[in-house]
This record gives sequence, structure tokens and C-alpha cells, in this order.
Amino acid sequence: LGLEKANFIEIINDSVQLIEPLTKKKNQKLFTQFDSDIEVCVDKQRMQQVLINLLSNASKFTPPDGEILIKSYIERDQLFIEIKDTGIGIPKDKQKHIFTKFYQVNNVVPGTGLGLSITKQLVELHGGTIRFESEPGKGTVFIIQIPTDGGLENEID
Ligand code: ATP
Ligand code: MG
Repeated sequence: LGLEKANFIEIINDSVQLIEPLTKKKNQKLFTQFDSDIEVCVDKQRMQQVLINLLSNASKFTPPDGEILIKSYIERDQLFIEIKDTGIGIPKDKQKHIFTKFYQVNNVVPGTGLGLSITKQLVELHGGTIRFESEPGKGTVFIIQIPTDGGLENEID
């Protein structure tokens, strides 16, 4: 990882800009909500990839006119990122598989099924965790937690 000091708000705003053409096409609302100052030590490009993977999933699996919220804050030296959608959700019996390489709930949907497995690896490389809560027919929220120092301590130990 190329850890460097970064303003996480910039990473969010860059990712949002890249994903907006997709959400606009489906007339989805994309909201952001974050603390005024989020200083972290992360690999900027990798974290941008994480956000783009999750935001593009949120758009892809949410019907037209739905809503997507990306929220971020720091609590006790941990950076939290939540990406929430009002989409189709993930069936309960499929939930344990979604981080598996090539897995797709419905394999007629365009994609390779690699996004979430890469996302999980990148979060773990930062010493973090990713989890989700999903209600079929209502929506899904992915929650990432990473140390604000990007897991620097893990690397030294
Ligand atoms: P790729 O990301 O490689 O283009 P993909 O989006 O299908 O393909 P993943 O991002 O790994 O693959 O997601 C795996 C599966 O998990 C998806 O195919 C979908 O069934 C389910 N999934 C992921 N995110 C969501 C979401 N926000 N809402 C509903 N289902 C989701
Ligand atoms: Mg994907």
C-alpha cells in the first residue's frame, strides 16, 4: 500500500463525481454527509477504488428514482464509511456469499462478481473491516471501519 496523509472528503468527492453519470442516468439521488475535517492516512487510489465499487453497486442494484447516501465520520481513531441504498437488497440465504470471488446473486446482471472481493481485500490491507446489513426489497448498507492511520501499526509490528 502507498499510505499517505489524505483528506478523506476529497476522496469521497472525487468518487462521487466519477459515479454521478451512472446515478443521473437512473435519476437516482446521491447524497453525501460527512464531518468537516477527515484527516486519514490511506492509499488514496485504493480507497477511491473501494468507494467506486460500492457506489457503482449501490446504483446498479437500486431501481430508478432511488436514493444513495455516502456518509463518513471519525470515531475513536477509526474512520467509518457507510454507503446506503434503497435498492433491491440481498436475499438472506445469499448474504454469506457476496464477498466470494465471482459470486453474483443473479448472474444475468452485467459484471464479473469481483468488485466486493477486491473491495474486502483492499479494506483489510488497511487493517480495516467491512460488513453490511440488507433487507430484501428495502435496501442495503455497507459499513467500513479502518484505523485513521491506515493500519500503519500493523505494518511496523
Ligand atoms: P463487478 O463488481 O465485478 O462488476 P458485481 O457488481 O456483480 O460485478 P460484486 O460487486 O462483487 O459483483 O457484488 C457481488 C453481488 O452482490 C452482486 O452481483 C449482487 O448480487 C450483490 N450486491 C452487491 N452490492 C449490492 C447492493 N448494494 N444491493 C444489492 N445487491 C448487491
Ligand atoms: Mg460490483
